[in-house]
Amino acid sequence: MSSTVLHFDARKLTENVQTLQGLCAPLDITLATVVKAGCGWEALARAALDGGCAMLADSRLENFARLPSEGPVVPRMLLRLPAPSEAGSVVRQCDISLNSEYAAIAALDAAAQRLGRRHRVLLMVELGDRREGILPQDLPALIDRVRHLPAIDVAGIGTNLGCLGGIRTTAEKLSQLTVLATEAEARLGYRLAYVSGGNSGALPLLLEGRMPAGINHLRVGFSMLLGRDPYTDAPLPGLHSDVFELEAELIEVRSKHSLPEGEVVLDAFGRVPRFEDRGEQVRGILGLGRLDTDFESLQPLDPGVGIIGASSDHLVVDLGVATERRVGDRLRFAPGYGALVQAMLSPYVEKRSAGVSSLPLPVRPPLRVSPGHP
Ligand SMILES: *Cc1c(COP(=O)(O)O)cnc(C)c1O
Repeated sequence: MSSTVLHFDARKLTENVQTLQGLCAPLDITLATVVKAGCGWEALARAALDGGCAMLADSRLENFARLPSEGPVVPRMLLRLPAPSEAGSVVRQCDISLNSEYAAIAALDAAAQRLGRRHRVLLMVELGDRREGILPQDLPALIDRVRHLPAIDVAGIGTNLGCLGGIRTTAEKLSQLTVLATEAEARLGYRLAYVSGGNSGALPLLLEGRMPAGINHLRVGFSMLLGRDPYTDAPLPGLHSDVFELEAELIEVRSKHSLPEGEVVLDAFGRVPRFEDRGEQVRGILGLGRLDTDFESLQPLDPGVGIIGASSDHLVVDLGVATERRVGDRLRFAPGYGALVQAMLSPYVEKRSAGVSSLPLPVRPPLRVSPGHP
């Protein structure tokens, strides 16, 4: 048994998915549950599927390969733009992918033809965050080139905001997307299956009843997993914000001065460390470090505990002078998104899931072939 454990409450995640589904359903919004933070962990994807999610989304092909091969069959969406060299794997493992480059879509088309399949694409439009997506004025030309590819279906358009430029998802931006969707539909001569209004950053609009009509698809990870508002980090009503908990063991408890003593040079990470003078402290060291988590997005759950700093394998905490804590005691933390992903990735952190649903899982039939034009 590892001394460091990431606890995952599958039932709470399932309930979060159900709650989000309940918000989306009245507006005919298809919810893609984004499980990429789980790094392919089957228990996490299964909990999302148990919540009745209509689509499973991830940014890595390697994760899709590790996801459950049984259970409800829902379309699989690749979030990161495919590299042309991986087109074959994308077509084999995913039903739909987000795209902005003709070269990649042409490679998907060639791969789909070779495999005797069709592949659906969602064209990404850049609306200000300056990450992926083509400029709105370039969308018609891309559609004209892509629509003639024999094994490709243009299933929708979408946008992503907030991830790089920190741009808020607003009703104005999403209205712009719906206008582009209407124009795309006129060009294509059919209704788009998906007008994808973004990530967790779109949920506040949904909760405030300000989601523009015409947005019928969202891709949600952060708020589903952490139950929080992506802009304020405040818990969102009706969602569990304690799906995950990171637990680590004290390997040293000692009274030490809060200020280092001696000539200050660089720390192990090339920075000049700065500390506040808080006099004597009872400091604890946990067997948990930067290799295991992102301590800057870690929230201590035990009252009176404060994080001082971390090196590769050690997390140093202030336990408070009146502490009763001893070596061998365990402390608990709420991971933020960065802390969660890093803990998922760390081979040194044991992942323990509780409350796994006992729903019978039907055998998943062979990979489905996408239907023709929507
Ligand atoms: C990660 C990702 C999402 C999900 O974002 P959250 O903030 O976790 O909800 C949606 N769309 C794309 C393209 C992504 O890469």
